[in-house]
Amino acid sequence: MKKILVTGAAGFLGSHLCDRLIEQGHRVVGLDSFFTGSEKNVAGLKKHANFKLIKHDVVDPLAAQDLDEIYNLACPASPVHYQYDPIHTMKTSVLGALNMLELARATGAKVFQASTSEVYGDPSVHPQPEEYWGNVNTIGIRSCYDEGKRAAETLFFDYQRMHKVQIKVVRIFNTYGPRMAANDGRVVSNFIVQALRGEDLTIYGDGSQTRSFCYADDLVEGFLRLMNSHDTITGPINLGNPGEFTMIELAEKVLRLTGSNSKLIHMPLPQDDPKQRRPDISKAKQYLDWEPAVPLEEGLKRTIAYFKEALAG
Ligand code: NAD
Ligand code: UDP
Repeated sequence: MKKILVTGAAGFLGSHLCDRLIEQGHRVVGLDSFFTGSEKNVAGLKKHANFKLIKHDVVDPLAAQDLDEIYNLACPASPVHYQYDPIHTMKTSVLGALNMLELARATGAKVFQASTSEVYGDPSVHPQPEEYWGNVNTIGIRSCYDEGKRAAETLFFDYQRMHKVQIKVVRIFNTYGPRMAANDGRVVSNFIVQALRGEDLTIYGDGSQTRSFCYADDLVEGFLRLMNSHDTITGPINLGNPGEFTMIELAEKVLRLTGSNSKLIHMPLPQDDPKQRRPDISKAKQYLDWEPAVPLEEGLKRTIAYFKEALAG
């Protein structure tokens, strides 16, 4: 049994990760500020003797405790949420990483960072391999998130070089599934919620921009494989589903799978919205023997079932 700290535990991905760690018999401390996360996501876990939930903001240091592993997931991930208070988003990424790295240094724990495909910005190399350095605006409305996550990666590698901290860094590509917040603002939850409510589906721009969507369970499996990989495998390593779709194609799938009569309407494309995104997952295949198993339509069906229940409740 390992003692594991998960930051962002009450969020979409954090709660799925905690489920898996508890299933595996570990003792888990879930930390969250509840900025975008919800106690509902961990309601089942709170009854479990091996799970403890604490309210804390990662911007503030955390006292050293007995720990084997730290998963640092705390950070709003949806553009709507990370742009709400961009200064706090930057602090969350940079000071949050610093505080978790100091904790790892003090306790000897291995530390995992949830980085992002946003480090590639609006990519001019397609699909994106880990070697690509990216195309990121430093002063735009997405920069608080993109540059915060880039700085966090830098801190991780500097702590490894200077202090021999054991690090594991993943770059997550768009991931979806049950427990996304209905008001999250990301495209999969927006389209499903709009379709189920009979509202128009909001296509930003002409809808020709692409994304690659990974189901949450697949992603969490990749997290666990990286954390448990050989110490020499630090990442950064891309995790995502290489299936690539335009937003129009996604909207049409959601309409078909929900049986909704909603219409598609076009809204302005947000500033710096990446035109294309698809992970090159050769490294994840080679080093972790990992690739996604859940196709988009299957994952959408499960997510639609979740939102039907959540909206009815
Ligand atoms: P989410 O918004 O559902 O979860 C984030 C969680 O972190 C929430 O519970 C929130 O309350 C908590 N949090 C935010 N700021 C905090 C702070 N300062 N201190 C403590 N807790 C804080 O988002 P998610 O999709 O679950 O994302 C989890 C992580 O994965 C994030 O770091 C995100 O950047 C990264 N990521 C996610 C995706 C994706 O597609 N889901 C893609 C790339 C990266
Ligand atoms: N998007 C959209 N309609 C929405 C929400 C998002 O067309 O209601 C588009 C958005 O402009 C982007 C893509 O969907 O091109 C993915 O957006 P999301 O916010 O989910 O993630 P990110 O842009 O961070 O990849």
